Amino acid sequence: MIEKETAENTNKAKSEFLAMMSHEIRTPMNGVIGMTDLLLQTTTLDEEQKAYVEIIHKSGETLLRIINDILDFSKIESGKTELHEFPFNIRDTISETFHILSTKADEKQLTTTFTVDPNVPHSLVGDSERLKQVLINLVGNSIKFTPFGGISVHVNKRVQEDHVIQLEFIVKDSGIGIPADKRSYIFEPFNQVDHVMTRKYEGTGLGLAITKKLVRLMGGDIWVEPADDPGTTIIFTLCLKEDHHSNEYQGHTNEGRAHASLHILIAEDNAINQVVLIKMLEKQGHLITVAANGEEAVKCALRDRFDIIFMDLHMPIINGLDATAIIKQSLPPERCPLIVAVTANALKEDRESCLAAGMDDYLSKPIKNKSLLDIIETYMENKQLTS
Ligand code: ADP
Repeated sequence: MIEKETAENTNKAKSEFLAMMSHEIRTPMNGVIGMTDLLLQTTTLDEEQKAYVEIIHKSGETLLRIINDILDFSKIESGKTELHEFPFNIRDTISETFHILSTKADEKQLTTTFTVDPNVPHSLVGDSERLKQVLINLVGNSIKFTPFGGISVHVNKRVQEDHVIQLEFIVKDSGIGIPADKRSYIFEPFNQVDHVMTRKYEGTGLGLAITKKLVRLMGGDIWVEPADDPGTTIIFTLCLKEDHHSNEYQGHTNEGRAHASLHILIAEDNAINQVVLIKMLEKQGHLITVAANGEEAVKCALRDRFDIIFMDLHMPIINGLDATAIIKQSLPPERCPLIVAVTANALKEDRESCLAAGMDDYLSKPIKNKSLLDIIETYMENKQLTS
């Protein structure tokens, strides 16, 4: 017992030392980065000088990242990390994570999609910033280790006891995968599948160690799921509290609604517009998937079954009109979802070109809740008539 206590104290002292040291190193590192930044921006350097300064700058940033990770890790280890508890919307947290990482995903032309089961309440109480940190680490890794294909996040509700809800997050990518014998080892600090000296990918090997600590702190666990598909599937759980203030409101807004839950795809590149649509649709209890460009939308539509697609017209890679045409050509009519154009152009010609591309309906921005409800109601009525 005493031995255990001594070991714990030593460990704590070590972590405190590390935390302090990391903090001390940050100040001079800021000097290095700040000054090289100034040199690059305000002085005329020849090509060779510029290349040297850029290397110093980049090395400084890498070092700072390592220090930040060590600081974070040792803070959690020494028990100094406190979780905040505020109500937040989990769909927004995932959407923001994807938004932060969108440039990296776009550079590699990777698709990013997420779905949250309708059972998961809209408002939950917990530390959304720490959850976002976990998601950024995992989705960031997926982007890093995936040359082709994409990344998906799915959230389920596992159990609810009193007012505590356990959620399960499935983060899946189609990347290089993790060998079976390395699956538990990657959560250890400073461990990477590649040996440090030969490695091809940048990183500190601390990301997953921090992630695991954070997940544990939030009452959950994390593991690599053995899967037959190529790529990596990481699952983590965590516990959040019910938000008492939001329940009344949800109950109220669900009244008098069509009760069927539809699977709806939102194809929209703008994060704010995404959130508006997600909010309106999830209040009605539908299962939502989000695609950030036309190419993703096509992939999603051909892979999964959707009832309705809300398709923005102006999107990168493939625009909404072309994406609609591809979907309509590729799917048999009975499997084809209803495709509704969403656009800021309210001109008559736009409406016509949408219908000509095979779109079934048309919604102009700013989207009104009422017009959205009307479209869904008409869809349900038609479905009942034909079935
Ligand atoms: P790093 O900073 O090196 O990314 P992490 O702790 O985040 O450190 O990850 C540890 C190692 O686990 C990585 O170096 C990589 O070898 C492996 N790894 C993590 N996520 C993935 C993934 N999605 N696909 C393949 N390998 C992964």
